[in-house]
Amino acid sequence: MPLLPLARTPRESHLYIALHPCACGEASTGENMRSFLWDFPDGWARKNEFTCPGCGTVRTFVFELPDWPHVEPDAFGADEPSQLIDAGEWLRLAHRWASSVPFEPSPDPKHEKVLKLAISGMDEVLKFFPPDAREDDELPDEAFWTERGRAYRAEQPFGGLRRYRLEAYRSGLVGLAHTPTQTPTPTPTPTRAYRKLKNLWKKGPGRA
Ligand SMILES: [Zn+2]
Repeated sequence: MPLLPLARTPRESHLYIALHPCACGEASTGENMRSFLWDFPDGWARKNEFTCPGCGTVRTFVFELPDWPHVEPDAFGADEPSQLIDAGEWLRLAHRWASSVPFEPSPDPKHEKVLKLAISGMDEVLKFFPPDAREDDELPDEAFWTERGRAYRAEQPFGGLRRYRLEAYRSGLVGLAHTPTQTPTPTPTPTRAYRKLKNLWKKGPGRA
């Protein structure tokens, strides 16, 4: 069983598993997930094992664990970018989550929860920018290492992966969320963000 890259949080490892369905097509893990901690020479790993509810195959995922697990609620990891899920996948997920709630502030706690997921997803996208990235820099090539992530990048129109566009989209999500989010806001330009938000909404950040 090959060791998968570092899973910064259990939440991130569960998302990774959901993104990699069984050969039978079943993506859910059912109720029988077992998890073991493994000690190996270079550190720690966590083995997740479950029986596919679709076909009965035992499925196993072994993730490397961080030395210091990050436990902040609503976050998929600390400040370092994911090694497990690439920027294209995070962007696709954030768009999918965001477009599943209405384009208006909603008192429904379920909408709130999904919006927070989308915001956390955008936080993950933005972590792939190097600290000195300028606002019109695009996400770097090395942030896209999966086939699905690269395909999603290719679907984004010219300029859609620039930092300010992605930050504007995130800021729009924060504006819609009922309660302020705990995650740090990477200082977008609110006026521009709000002017473009309506266009950005269903279409993703690139098509304004
Ligand atoms: Zn299966």
